[in-house]
Amino acid sequence: MCGIVGYIGYREAYPILIKGLHRLEYRGYDSAGVTLIDDDNKLLVYKAKGRVQDLEDFVKDKDTHGTIGIAHTRWATHGEPSNVNAHPHYSQSESLALIHNGIIENYAVLKAKLINEGYTFQSSTDTEVLVQLIEYIKQINNCDLFAAVQLALNQVVGAYAIAVIEKGNPDQIIAARKSSPLVVGIGEGEYFIGSDASPIIEYTNKVIYLDDEEIAIIKREEDPKIITISNIEKTHEIKELELNLSQLERGGYPHFMLKEIFEQPETLKNCMSGRINVEGTNVTLSGIIDHKDKFINARRIIIIACGTSWHAGLLGEYLFEEFCRIPVEVEYASEFRYRNPVIHPDDIVIAISQSGETADSLAAIELAREAGAFVYGVCNVEGSSIPRNTDSGSYTHCGHEIGVASTKAFTAQVTVLTMMALAIAKEKNTINASRYLKIIKGLSDIPSKIEQILKLNDRIKELSLIFTYAQNFIYLGRGYNYPIALEGALKLKEISYIHAEGYPAAEMKHGPIALIDNEMPVVTIATNSAIYEKVVSNIQEIKARKGRVIAVINEGDETMKSLANHYIEIPATEECLDPLLTSIPLQLLAYHIAVNKNRDVDMPRNLAKSVTVE
Ligand code: GLU
Repeated sequence: MCGIVGYIGYREAYPILIKGLHRLEYRGYDSAGVTLIDDDNKLLVYKAKGRVQDLEDFVKDKDTHGTIGIAHTRWATHGEPSNVNAHPHYSQSESLALIHNGIIENYAVLKAKLINEGYTFQSSTDTEVLVQLIEYIKQINNCDLFAAVQLALNQVVGAYAIAVIEKGNPDQIIAARKSSPLVVGIGEGEYFIGSDASPIIEYTNKVIYLDDEEIAIIKREEDPKIITISNIEKTHEIKELELNLSQLERGGYPHFMLKEIFEQPETLKNCMSGRINVEGTNVTLSGIIDHKDKFINARRIIIIACGTSWHAGLLGEYLFEEFCRIPVEVEYASEFRYRNPVIHPDDIVIAISQSGETADSLAAIELAREAGAFVYGVCNVEGSSIPRNTDSGSYTHCGHEIGVASTKAFTAQVTVLTMMALAIAKEKNTINASRYLKIIKGLSDIPSKIEQILKLNDRIKELSLIFTYAQNFIYLGRGYNYPIALEGALKLKEISYIHAEGYPAAEMKHGPIALIDNEMPVVTIATNSAIYEKVVSNIQEIKARKGRVIAVINEGDETMKSLANHYIEIPATEECLDPLLTSIPLQLLAYHIAVNKNRDVDMPRNLAKSVTVE
């Protein structure tokens, strides 16, 4: 959600900034802008509604010289997407330009005060209030830019990652963060800033992750200084990035989403590597080993997440309850944080987030920690805020995920949760040895089974053509495949904009069956399970009402083949591991339907990759 990129050094800034904005496009945005300080020390500001390419077209014949600049992709929260509301925003005298990710919650109060002081506003954004406030403070206190930013941020309630530059001062960028991510890249004689490492990795793998309420003073040819808004100077730790450039390229695939679907055999191997031993007899997660008493004695597990991660969380509930016999609650982070939940010091809170920056999940973590619970993070992006604000955790290690609709991050989250359940169950003695080994073996076989499923891509593509013009879809599953029904429906909604609902199959009779007619495609997950017969009955009920059943079944299931209108045959596995296989054809089905409809698959409308505002 929103992207920030900045450069100060010896090269022309503009090409670096534009390339950086392209790298950040995956996060989702609606407009883009850039500001540079030219050779005469003047601020140049260019912005455009739409894509980064629209900004480039607009800037084509304009002056873009300068070795310092900041740039932004906006995901509107206050004020519609438009040229005026796009960032950067000027201060009144046009001596400052600022970009911002987040929300200034008390902007209305601050704005009223500034209007009283004679300030006028061009945009309807909360962001413009901040840049005017900084200028106002700078003028009345006669202080430098850093001091003005520091004072201003003390008046701000809300979330921000910001960067500011100043006319007449081509040697400095001031950047700061609270609840929105910001990374400083350290090159040789040059510095970068980014919302994440993707715009930086091409130039350096050394970075500093800013913490909440820290301000970075980044000056040409000087070490960056980090000072908090309460004026405490921090020693900064330089971290080495693990991201590599090939992860940011499409590598011959038409979309990142398809590339990421096809990466899953590899990403799941990575996720398991070093955790499942080579003999396939043991699962070790250091995040659990280091705190095993906490898990053994846990009264309850609360899983907090949003979106696709919440679906992974639901699977976590099935896994932890079945194997570890610990009661589990799965919560939407946005609801949990505001409903005064009961949290005990012997509860374990597991926060799941691909980006590790999800604003609602971060707030929920804070709440859990205040109540004394032990907090465990399951995240993909290393060094992101959740891993830095939790007691322990496990990375999903599936590499950079660019497609806004999550695929490989989801299966990696489910794999981590499965390994966690096994590791905890073993410590607690709630699983017998043969079952433990059988599931480890099943898990190790998942990557090759996914490879088999990926060979069905052409068949699923053909199938997608039949359903491209459907207005609605229903997805059904039971047991471990109920969360997959929800996730399958979400995938379709996200990228094709077709209305889709997921249900536990038996719930049909309690309402949704009224929707069934001969126009309604019903995707049913009907693989072998303890309740397979019940799913067969559910399908009969749909067929009796002329619904069109697309069934995901196990290879050779002749009953289902004769029953369903269309079927996708996949290999069998342990019931608890089935979601890792059944999710793949549903990802492909959603993908192909969206492509048939000519949708912007990697950057669907209105969506953002990492939701850094609540
Ligand atoms: N709240 C700001 C706006 O609406 C920033 C949004 C963003 O994070 O891109 O302009």
